[in-house]
Amino acid sequence: MRGMAHSGMADHLALTREIPARAMVREELQPMPEFATLSHRRRLRFHGWGYADEHLSAEEEARVRGAAGRFGGASGEVAAPREADFDLAAPRVTPPAALAAMMSSTPYDRLTHALGKSFADVARMLLRDVRHPPDLVAFPRTAADVAAILDWASGANVAAIPFGGGSSVVGGVEPDVGDGYAATVSIDLQYLNQVLEIDRASRAARIQAGALGPEIERQLKPHGLTLRHFPQSFQISTLGGWIATRSGGHYASLYTHIDDFVESTATVTPAGLLETRRLPGSGAGPSPDRLMIGSEGTRGVIVEAWMRLQDRPVHQASASVAFTTMAIQGQ
Ligand SMILES: Cc1cc2nc3c(=O)[nH]c(=O)nc-3n(C[C@H](O)[C@H](O)[C@H](O)COP(=O)(O)OP(=O)(O)OC[C@H]3O[C@@H](n4cnc5c(N)ncnc54)[C@H](O)[C@@H]3O)c2cc1C
Repeated sequence: MRGMAHSGMADHLALTREIPARAMVREELQPMPEFATLSHRRRLRFHGWGYADEHLSAEEEARVRGAAGRFGGASGEVAAPREADFDLAAPRVTPPAALAAMMSSTPYDRLTHALGKSFADVARMLLRDVRHPPDLVAFPRTAADVAAILDWASGANVAAIPFGGGSSVVGGVEPDVGDGYAATVSIDLQYLNQVLEIDRASRAARIQAGALGPEIERQLKPHGLTLRHFPQSFQISTLGGWIATRSGGHYASLYTHIDDFVESTATVTPAGLLETRRLPGSGAGPSPDRLMIGSEGTRGVIVEAWMRLQDRPVHQASASVAFTTMAIQGQ
């Protein structure tokens, strides 16, 4: 496994100067072309947040233009990138025959796994500046598949990068690993998306790490349970990603961080499987789960976790507060 890539961020921010100041992104509403992928997910917008077939309504677009106008108005438009705009270098490695069926090197898969979703990431996509796409994207279906991928990657000096929803805003999924590796493989956990077991008495569930927020809640709902963890990226981020980044559910009062909900974890490391014990609570020594919570994928691939749950709320209420001005009173 490789460490997080921070070093290139300043360069990436500098590049944004080449985009016209206050540019708007122009997305043409055309039928989606066929795209080659091993993904089973609805097609993601590889160059920014959301799904490729989701667009702003006319009213939303007018609101965005109005807001942009407040900051001086849009001075240019940038066409949304297409796969064909990128001249990706050929993969530097060929997968072994035993793993070939779960590995992809299509432009869509490589682009979708090349960057996260920070402002700098989106700016680089608009500049068509993707310097480190993964050579391969792996789509394992079991923990044994993950172990086989890591075995091969260790032997072939290929840097392996776990990938959940790809919503990282700190360069965590970017295969910018320096010159010390022969190649890179992004390991996408999307097929490991099931709630495997529910312990109703203890209000806990064993959940696979590649499950997206809505996939988790959909499977818990018939049992009257909820994980009640709602980061703003809930729609396209995963349990494994939440644990690996110590995510905070900003829509949740009382319980905020994912740490509060983790009962035990199972992680495939290059040295084997690390499974922690499921305990209602423990004060005995350092918590082994803390090796994985916040590890950003540097220690292994989290494949599942037992998570503490809550009963689903019976009533729900929400409110928003509108301010007439952005000025701070008294200044
Ligand atoms: C619009 C938007 C809103 C956001 N809102 C919030 C918010 O409210 N709260 C918050 O905390 N964050 C937020 N984020 C940041 C991001 O969504 C979180 O960090 C989230 O936890 C990442 O989950 P993911 O599944 O997308 O992980 P990814 O982006 O795929 O990966 C993140 C890191 O975790 C590692 N990783 C992923 N899966 C695994 C695994 N199974 N095993 C080991 N390592 C793994 C990756 O290698 C990478 O280093 C937001 C981001 C965006 C774009």
